[in-house]
Amino acid sequence: MNTAYVALGANLGKPLDQLNQAIALVNKLSDTAVVTAASIYQSIAIGPGQQPDYLNSAAQIVTKLTPSDLLAALHSIENTLARERTVHWGPRTLDLDLLLYDNFTSTAATLTVPHPRMCGRNFVIYPLLEIAPLLVLPTGENIKSVAQKLVNEGIQRKNDFNPQRMQWIN
Ligand code: ATP
Ligand code: CA
Ligand code: CA
Repeated sequence: MNTAYVALGANLGKPLDQLNQAIALVNKLSDTAVVTAASIYQSIAIGPGQQPDYLNSAAQIVTKLTPSDLLAALHSIENTLARERTVHWGPRTLDLDLLLYDNFTSTAATLTVPHPRMCGRNFVIYPLLEIAPLLVLPTGENIKSVAQKLVNEGIQRKNDFNPQRMQWIN
């Protein structure tokens, strides 16, 4: 089994519902289980124009899927939950990013691991820090020192995760 970390984000539709559906679908993937997830953090959207705030979190999973099969599976979950909504570029019903996969590294455009922009994003690093405070990145940097470099702005902790139900509490 390999340990991987997945970032979840949503800012359209009913973001909390989508995140709860997404984590259930991740937990149902073959040869994969969710170990735990962080609280949900509400953050101001980055990107062009006015967008609703994001709800973000991160999950720790164990999986026998390869990194590329896992990313493909995450994309298919995105497609499942985005099916009924056509949205212009930018805001999302669901965004699932593969952050880390053990000490695996890849710089291919189709599979960049660790996620190339994760360390600059408080809405990725804060939830990760919550569930894996001793995490060391493949670069050797630890998650606490990554977090300390970030500005604690535009983000607030919101919903708790219920590990028994594998769902966030409204
Ligand atoms: P960002 O990557 O900055 O968070 P985004 O999530 O909005 O932006 P997408 O529109 O989801 O970006 O597109 C990301 C592209 O990168 C997709 O084509 C996807 O296949 C590819 N990709 C490569 N590595 C990863 C990874 N580790 N996680 C998610 N997508 C990845
Ligand atoms: Ca993303
Ligand atoms: Ca993405």
